[in-house]
Amino acid sequence: MARPSETGSQAAPEAPEGHRPSGFDPARMEIITLRDVIRATPERFIKQYAYLGDGVCQWSGRSYSAVVEELRGLDLETATAADLNRIIGNYSWARLDCEQCDREVERLLRIGEAPDYEARWQDICLPCLEAATKILRDSDGSPNGGDEGSVHDSAAIAPTHPQTPRQGAGE
Ligand SMILES: [Zn+2]
Repeated sequence: MARPSETGSQAAPEAPEGHRPSGFDPARMEIITLRDVIRATPERFIKQYAYLGDGVCQWSGRSYSAVVEELRGLDLETATAADLNRIIGNYSWARLDCEQCDREVERLLRIGEAPDYEARWQDICLPCLEAATKILRDSDGSPNGGDEGSVHDSAAIAPTHPQTPRQGAGE
């Protein structure tokens, strides 16, 4: 009885294009700050609600053009999330949430790939990452998992795990 997960990962075909080598790839994660979100929020809002034209925004009850004008007048290097959200009238716009603990944070790690059309990433804050690391470390069942594994810390992030015994390793 072959375990599907094992045979599956062994037999995983390589991506036909892009051909990404396995191993830790810092390009597949990104630090996201609340400032990044603030910088991007006006354009995101303006694009998403451009269809309103001269219409009224549902949250603020003000005209789209008035909201846009006020957003464009902000200095995005000093404006706060509260400034943006007050102008838009909705607190879901300029905020950064950890998807694990749902807390609002100033900074987190986005793990995954930039999506073509559908989000394929996870936004995780530092305390959650640390907790997750501990869970993963402890999951190997050894009582002193930390000690034993510390020599090969990189093993925790390197997926390659060759099972083939080395020839002539008995020195
Ligand atoms: Zn979190």
